[in-house]
Amino acid sequence: MLLMKKVFHFDAPRERYRCDAAIVSCFDTRFQLGFTKYFRHIGIVNSDPIKIAGGAKSLASPERETDREFLLDQIRKSIQLHQTERVILTLHSDCGAYGGLDGAFDGDERLEARSQAEEMRRAATCLRDAVTAITVEGYFANFEGIWEVDLSRPASPGKSITR
Ligand SMILES: [Zn+2]
Repeated sequence: MLLMKKVFHFDAPRERYRCDAAIVSCFDTRFQLGFTKYFRHIGIVNSDPIKIAGGAKSLASPERETDREFLLDQIRKSIQLHQTERVILTLHSDCGAYGGLDGAFDGDERLEARSQAEEMRRAATCLRDAVTAITVEGYFANFEGIWEVDLSRPASPGKSITR
């Protein structure tokens, strides 16, 4: 006896794929369309989306160390299963995981952007230390667009503002 019933027909591709990029992002849906369009624009067709509250926060300033381990493990699985060589980290404005634009940054978008750029550098440093042989990119989305974070500059050792 079947324990499930078909409710919708859909032909999914059976071929395994090689992943163009694992994309770590917050599940906040407001920035999803912008990110999707941009990543398509830069040629990413097959991605492994890893969606968790705060996105790259779990690498830079996790609430629990196990959050960081979980995320690193998801990235490693993408590499193992889909030969992923590129990891894209994202953060966004007014993220509830950081306390929001008003709550954490007094509504100051420039302060938030500076802080999130530093946060992104910490996330990238953590990821590069834990997982070698990948390229890492970082993007910050606000209500005007998507910004690439310069990850060539080292992360400052200062504490995260949410700690
Ligand atoms: Zn968020």
